[in-house]
Amino acid sequence: MKQLTRVRCLCCGYKTLARPDSNGLCPVCWWQDDGQDDNDADTVRGTVNGELSLTEARKNFQLYGAAHPQFVPHVRTPEPGEI
Ligand SMILES: [Zn+2]
Repeated sequence: MKQLTRVRCLCCGYKTLARPDSNGLCPVCWWQDDGQDDNDADTVRGTVNGELSLTEARKNFQLYGAAHPQFVPHVRTPEPGEI
C-alpha cells in the first residue's frame, strides 16, 4: 500500500513523513520525528531516539546512510516521490 507523504524528515531531508511532529519513523534514515528541529538539534532528548541528538543523527546519516549505524539494516533508499 502506498501512502501519501508530504513532510520532510528533519534528519535526512527526504519527504517521508505523513505529518510533522507525530512520532513518525522515517524509513530512509530511521529517525523518529518527535518534533526536534534546528532550535534544539544538539539536545539529546533521551526519548524515542535514545542517545541520539538530531545533529548526531544527521552526521550518522551522512556517514552510514542511517540515523545510527545499528539502523543500517532497516533503512531503504528514498523513492522518487520523496526527494
Ligand atoms: Zn529521515
